[in-house]
Amino acid sequence: SSPIIEVKGLQTSFLTEDGQIPVVNNIDFDIKPGEVLGIVGESGCGKSVTSLSIMGLIPTATGKVEGEILFKGENLANATEARMRQIRGNDIAMIFQEPMTSLNPVFTIGEQLIESLRIHRKWNKKTAMARAVEMLKLVGLPRAEELVKEYPHQLSGGMRQRVMIAMAMICEPKLLIADEPTTALDVTIQAQILELMKKLNQETDTAIMMITHDLGVVAEMCERVLVMYAGKVVEEGDVKTIFQNPKHPYTIGLIQSVPDMRTKVDRLYSIPGNVPKPGSLKLGCQFAPRCAHAMDRCISESPGLSSFDNGQQVRCWLYDDSERRKQA
Ligand code: SF4
Ligand code: MG
Repeated sequence: SSPIIEVKGLQTSFLTEDGQIPVVNNIDFDIKPGEVLGIVGESGCGKSVTSLSIMGLIPTATGKVEGEILFKGENLANATEARMRQIRGNDIAMIFQEPMTSLNPVFTIGEQLIESLRIHRKWNKKTAMARAVEMLKLVGLPRAEELVKEYPHQLSGGMRQRVMIAMAMICEPKLLIADEPTTALDVTIQAQILELMKKLNQETDTAIMMITHDLGVVAEMCERVLVMYAGKVVEEGDVKTIFQNPKHPYTIGLIQSVPDMRTKVDRLYSIPGNVPKPGSLKLGCQFAPRCAHAMDRCISESPGLSSFDNGQQVRCWLYDDSERRKQA
């Protein structure tokens, strides 16, 4: 089926003392209805800026979003704020890492759950509240009828994240963007939340864009994965292929730094060095300062994406056709 969202040449840049600096640098991807796409990388790779660009949440005073974000044929990169308000929470919804900061402490769970139904669907309060109760049950929360009358601080972190998921799913969005949705939760609760998201994904045709630094989450949830580094996609493919046959040195490092796929890791320790500050490396492969395989060419020329027959794509000179010929 045709993609629910098509991102083409997305470039998001911010005005700094050094000029307009791209943080997301010409990326392409699409997501099909019902698909779960993982976007993985360390913090500072441009994952969150990618999702905020799709949601129309890049501050216009300093940020600039260029390229195409085609949603049902409409380019959201050019959409007005008024149009984005119609889309957010309705066609495209988002859940964040820390539900406490996204829930308003002075409103009840029920009031917050029905907000988007009231705004987008113009449902009356009674009908919307009945739907809110139904959603709380769907996400596995007990005492749903009482819970709608309670306040966020009365709930545990895991319960609040379930409420956030219920809130995101209440208008049956076509795309759910989940940015590190389980990072703040302990391992058991994390597993339950991922299980819930998988179940909701299977029961609806909502596609999920799962943003994470945790390859365990990708293995658990995703069919396809994009690996981002310094604002670019450096590797893409189906999850099985990427785990069994990672090609980019960064992806290989990420996989090696996960000691056990079932264990939660907070940080990726084993790749020495840091993601370069956006705009600091003018030439060459952005991974070169950390790469054990860097060649002369890597310092001066940026690699393009090489495609393989199995759909895998890799941005690395080691897989460039002319390099492959030289080494053969
Ligand atoms: Fe390493 Fe060069 Fe490949 Fe970059 S292009 S990942 S520096 S081998
Ligand atoms: Mg982030």
